[in-house]
Amino acid sequence: PSRLEGKIAVVTAAGQGIGKAIADRFAEEGARVFASDLDAAKLANPAFADARVLDVTDTVAVDAYAAEIGAVDVLANVAGFVHHGTVLDCTEDDWDFSFDLNVKSMHRTIRAFLPAMLDRAEQTGSTASIVNMSSGASSIKGAPNRYVYGATKAAIIGMTKAIAADFAARQLRCNAICPGTVDSPSLQERMKALGEQMGGYDAAFDLFLQRQPMGRIAQPREIADMAVYLASDEAGFVTGATMVIDGGWTL
Ligand code: NAD
Repeated sequence: PSRLEGKIAVVTAAGQGIGKAIADRFAEEGARVFASDLDAAKLANPAFADARVLDVTDTVAVDAYAAEIGAVDVLANVAGFVHHGTVLDCTEDDWDFSFDLNVKSMHRTIRAFLPAMLDRAEQTGSTASIVNMSSGASSIKGAPNRYVYGATKAAIIGMTKAIAADFAARQLRCNAICPGTVDSPSLQERMKALGEQMGGYDAAFDLFLQRQPMGRIAQPREIADMAVYLASDEAGFVTGATMVIDGGWTL
């Protein structure tokens, strides 16, 4: 397990779910991992080089964090929130919160880390890699009750491609991962909430499963394995890509 040996990696929202799986896998593959989350109590892995609170909606905090850490090879932007509902359920505050946490957060971290990432790529001769967590519910698929969520995740695909285009010649790669349904603490909460409306958790879970061509949802590690690939030199020619991992959901 040394696919990321010598790499320095930053992972946001590393406290649970997909972000935790990515940070854990990066460490397993030999990366020096800087893990952060809104909730420091969740950052338990002693293999991390550094674990601390970072609110990705706080520009001052993000800038200070990047200034302290300096040059990294990999930036994995994972923080995101699922707003449930249609356009009619989405207030202006809901819209602003979702775009701030899901999209502007990535603008912040990328602006803060990118200059030193470019310098390091030039020095090491390896490409630098930004991995942005999008979703199948984006420009790829319209999903019910994912109005502003889908809009934010489509925006992430747009910003990913723009960055890939601007910095390809300077050895910086930027890719998006578009998962289908993944078992995570927040997914469990969403299913419990849905279960309260429709006769219990099992009924809600069955509804989710019926939409899954493979008859199951993904485990966070299956998404993290793609992040390892995109972070590694194996993906040296991959940029601007939207990597769909959804068991056939968006087919
Ligand atoms: P989750 O929703 O269970 O956990 C999210 C984590 O983000 C928590 O640890 C939370 O503390 C942290 N967080 C919240 N606000 C933050 C902030 N301001 N700053 C820093 N951290 C913050 O995890 P998940 O379901 O694995 O989702 C992770 C990402 O993957 C999200 O961007 C989500 O949209 C995306 N995604 C998830 C699924 C899925 O089915 N679970 C599918 C597609 C995409």
